[in-house]
Amino acid sequence: MKISVDYDLCESNALCMEIAPEVFEVRDDNFLYVLDESPAQAVWPQVEDALRACPKGAISIED
Ligand code: SF4
Repeated sequence: MKISVDYDLCESNALCMEIAPEVFEVRDDNFLYVLDESPAQAVWPQVEDALRACPKGAISIED
């Protein structure tokens, strides 16, 4: 499984970073970076929480 972000929707509010900092990072340039598109299994619950928390619906998970 792979994490996908629609950067056109993302508003860089860093909510996903607060929930899953191993995976999502909003940097000083105010852009979101996905640090690991296919993280370890232990991190996936956080990724799913981040997906649900994103107010823009910008995060998706691809098979
Ligand atoms: S929670 Fe959504 S809108 Fe906010 S930075 Fe993450 S992907 Fe972007």
